[in-house]
Amino acid sequence: MTLHIETPLLESRALSLKTGRTVLLKLEGLQPSGSFKLRGVGFACEEHKRRGARRFVAASGGNAGYAVAYAGRELGIPVTVVVPQTTSERAKALIRGEEADVVVHGASFAESNAYALSTLGDGDAYLHAFDDPLLWEGHATMIEEVARQTERPDLLVCSVGGGGLLAGVVEGLRRVGWSDIPVLAVETDGASSFHEALKAGAPVALTKIQSVATSLGANKVAARIVTLAKEHPIRNCLVTDAEAIQGSVTLLEEHRLLTEPACGASVAALVRIPEYFPEAQRIVVIACGGVGTTSQQLLEWSDFYRLEGEQVAASHSDEVHLPESLQR
Ligand SMILES: *Cc1c(COP(=O)(O)O)cnc(C)c1O
Repeated sequence: MTLHIETPLLESRALSLKTGRTVLLKLEGLQPSGSFKLRGVGFACEEHKRRGARRFVAASGGNAGYAVAYAGRELGIPVTVVVPQTTSERAKALIRGEEADVVVHGASFAESNAYALSTLGDGDAYLHAFDDPLLWEGHATMIEEVARQTERPDLLVCSVGGGGLLAGVVEGLRRVGWSDIPVLAVETDGASSFHEALKAGAPVALTKIQSVATSLGANKVAARIVTLAKEHPIRNCLVTDAEAIQGSVTLLEEHRLLTEPACGASVAALVRIPEYFPEAQRIVVIACGGVGTTSQQLLEWSDFYRLEGEQVAASHSDEVHLPESLQR
């Protein structure tokens, strides 16, 4: 028994027709915690429980914190999630709904994380959102499932925040003997920490993150994925916020799935495949999910960019500013 569930691998007829290739979606948004995060977090929490942990501590107002809260309730271990002041009431309510304690501390993730670490005592296990080999081991199970669900694909597509998902995908490809299958690793322009790390040859801290894809907003990636980029065929691709939102709208309209733009980004990247991997015919997209976006918010964003797009076309301006009210 695992805390995560086996998810369907669905051929997207709409995306296959649009791209002229076969597009398969790994529906990780169907996990009980609404994102793939439960694979790694669940695996790590079970391991910490085995080692005697009596409390789980996480710093995240997003899908990682929610997954830890879910895992703790399932395993009967109390959970404390430290979140920054910017965290929405809805996110806090979701975490509390899993019976976790929510502690609001700090103006940024870095501040709440430092605080969470300072509270650790005997019997506490700290769960990182992306930089932990236990997470990568758990995330890798999604590729083991894919290998049971379909014949060999030519390409994997996944989003990159801090790189836990990418590290897990590559680990999974190795486990099933697919270490030659390339990965398209997708970010949004305003959260391009992997892009910058690849340029520098090592993780670099971004001074500013500005993207609607907040789950991709790790300001510094795990060193592991910079190493993996030297060992495995990985290419990095950037999409705009507007494209990521459109990707989520496509999943909503074509597959009745509500996802964050962090997930829509991977769908949006499909149109770039001729540029990056022209030979790839059979493509698996990790539809990583995410609970942070409501349908109303997604449609507001989508309307905003449609209107902006028209204005930009009219004025030939290349600056698009998301008004404060539409930022999260
Ligand atoms: C965490 C998350 C990501 C990014 O994963 P990393 O392991 O940080 O790279 C992408 N999408 C969603 C929905 C997430 O929750």
